[in-house]
Formats: sequence, structure tokens, C-alpha cells
Amino acid sequence: MNIQLKTQDAPALRPLTGKVSLVTGSTSGIGLGIARALAEAGSAVVLNGFGTAAEIARTRDQLSADFGVEVSYSAADMTSPAAIAEMIAATVASHGRLDILVNNAGIQHVAPLDQFPVEKWDAILSINLSSAFHTSRLALPVMRRNKFGRIINIASAHGLVASPFKAAYVAAKHGVVGLTKVAALETAEDGITCNAICPGYVYTPLVEAQIDGQAKAHGISREQVIHDVLLAQQPNKRFATVEELGALTVFLASDAAASITGIALPVDGGWTAH
Ligand code: NAD
Repeated sequence: MNIQLKTQDAPALRPLTGKVSLVTGSTSGIGLGIARALAEAGSAVVLNGFGTAAEIARTRDQLSADFGVEVSYSAADMTSPAAIAEMIAATVASHGRLDILVNNAGIQHVAPLDQFPVEKWDAILSINLSSAFHTSRLALPVMRRNKFGRIINIASAHGLVASPFKAAYVAAKHGVVGLTKVAALETAEDGITCNAICPGYVYTPLVEAQIDGQAKAHGISREQVIHDVLLAQQPNKRFATVEELGALTVFLASDAAASITGIALPVDGGWTAH
């Protein structure tokens, strides 16, 4: 699909026309890829996340120019329940609805459990898990009013299996999978679905930034870092892409996925089949 679709001549290819989506952590990486896919499918989009004012303005302008949809932005910090409440209220006030909520914002810290910094534990639990509780509890009454809603939580393969040194991340992502199941059960008769996507390694600027550093640290090539270090657990030996995750999110948000709820879907090249 390309830029010509903004002519809105192809409604069948824009199944989310008229919908409003909010994607947390969408100034970069997976969240931005998902926001682009939702906009391409016709949805208005509320962006969120950190970045300079100039970068965020550029992203907003580009999305609305490419896809002809309304794009707004909330600077809400996902560690703050009050800021999250303001973000949801502002979304509903300016768009009149909230149909698709993608809980994507997340951070990582790697350290042995007995040396894990307490403030990093608190930050990861708050951004990666509690923010999804707050956005969901505030979005559900709006979705119930419209008898339609899609909550899509970006968990991780680490929501299903563990790796050493990632205590907070693994605990938070397992928590996201549990929250997803509860939300699915509580909304099953309301036209609302809630699902978790569990990616393995995805090629984002965050991952690219690690490759050269690891190559230097281990004295190996970029290709070896990708194959033997980053993708050691990922049997297909390729990164998932933000475009693949965007397409999956659009599918889960569509009417075709109305009976899919409460799942934790691995997108991990076979990692969790081990
Ligand atoms: P990224 O660092 O590129 O993007 C993270 C986004 O979250 C950014 O927009 C950032 O501004 C935002 N953010 C961070 N802290 C925030 C806060 N306190 N409040 C609001 N926004 C905040 O990372 P990514 O690789 O795109 O990861 C996105 C999500 O996907 C995360 O939940 C991550 O755990 C998950 N994930 C990533 C991978 C991967 O390989 N990249 C794999 C599995 C799961």
C-alpha cells in the first residue's frame, strides 16, 4: 500500500475509517509502526511518548499527510496515573470516542535480581504494566458506551517465558498477559476484545543501537551479533518488523477479529515453541 491510498477511494482497504486509536509510546519503534498502520487503515490516531517538539510535529504532519487522518499527541508520562487520566479525557473530549487502545509504552533494564536497582523495578512495573491497567480502566466505560472496543497490549515473548537478568521486565510482561485475560473475560459480551501481542526481537532503533556496541564488546561482526547474540533464542534468525506488528494490530482491531479475545499471540519466529 502506498501514499495514493490517502485519496480515500478504497474503503475496503481502510477498514478502520471513523475509528479513533490511542497508541502509548508511539513516538518511536513498534508504537510508531503500529500508529502508521492504524492511520493507513483509516483510523484517527493519538500519539504518545517522549521526543523533541520538532520530531513529534514532524511525525504528526507526516502521518496526516500520508494517510489523510487526524493525528493528535499527548505528552502523558506513563508513570503518572493523573497524566494518563488527562490523556484519556482529552482524547474523548477532542474525538468524541476511543475505539482502539494499544498499550505499547515500555522500557527495559538488565541486571541480576539481587542487584536489580529498586527504582528501575518500580519504573518498569509502572510503565510496562500499571499504565495498561490505568488506560484500560478509563477506556472501558467509553468503549462500553459505543458497544465497541479493541484493547491490544504489546507484551513480549517475555510475557510467556523468562530470560535471566530481566526480572522486572519478565514480571511486568507476564502481568500484562494476565491483565489481558481478565479484561477479555470482563468485556466478552460488550463488543470489546482484549488481546496481547508477544513479539520476540523486533528491529527498532533501540535494537539497531545495540548491534555495533555488542560487536565491539565481543570482538565479533555485526552479523554474528545478530545471529548468535540477539537472535540466539529466535529459531527463524530474523527480526520481526514493525510493519508486521502494525498489520497484526490492524487485523486484531478489525471486525474480522471479533471472536478473538484473551489470547497472548507470539510473534517470535518460534522462540516460545522451545
Ligand atoms: P522504543 O524505545 O523504540 O519505544 C518506546 C516508546 O515508549 C517511545 O515512544 C518512548 O518515548 C515511550 N516511552 C518510554 N517511557 C515512557 C513513559 N514513561 N511515558 C510515555 N511514553 C514512554 O521501544 P520499542 O522497541 O519500540 O518497544 C515498544 C514496546 O514493545 C515495549 O513495550 C517493549 O517492551 C515491547 N517489545 C519490544 C521488543 C523489541 O525487540 N524491540 C520485543 C518485544 C516487546
